[in-house]
Formats: sequence, C-alpha cells, structure tokens
Amino acid sequence: MICPKCGLPEELCVCEDMSKRSQKIKVRIDRRKYGKAVTVVDGFEHANLQNIAKDLKQRLACGGTVKEDKVELQGDHRQKIVSALSGMGFDEDMIDT
Ligand SMILES: [Zn+2]
Repeated sequence: MICPKCGLPEELCVCEDMSKRSQKIKVRIDRRKYGKAVTVVDGFEHANLQNIAKDLKQRLACGGTVKEDKVELQGDHRQKIVSALSGMGFDEDMIDT
C-alpha cells in the first residue's frame, strides 16, 4: 500500500502519526441503561478507528466498540484515558476531558 498523501509505502509513512498530534479528541462519559458508564472518545480524523479501539481496550483493559466515528469504551476511564491516548501518539494538550 502506498500512502496517497506522501507517496511512501505504508510502513514508512508517518502521515497518520503526524495527524494524530493535531487531532482534537473529545472524551465524555455517557450513562447507559442501569446507570452503566460508557467512555465516548470522539474527534478522530484519518485514523484507523478499529486499531485505535483495539489499542485503547488493551491499554485500559476494558471492552469497547467503534460507533461511526467514535470509540465507545465500557466503564469510566477519564482518569487513565489521557495517558493511554498520549502513549498512542496523540497530543495530551489536544484531549478534552
Ligand atoms: Zn503518508
């Protein structure tokens, strides 16, 4: 696979990493049935959401799904989500919790 943006093969391309730093991520907590908390992470652009969800689930040791352009994680992860996302290459200052 060749990246359409920089023309480099996917394994050399850093476009996704670069764009991660400029993405404004919003984190909010939703309450679902029976008062269960769900952490909704929103604002991703040009990102592989399946990979992000997988990575977050591993880092936070929880279940989760991709819903449209959002990642939903089971439980309230406000305490740890910023460090998890920054460990994945996102800019802490751009994460709004
Ligand atoms: Zn690229």
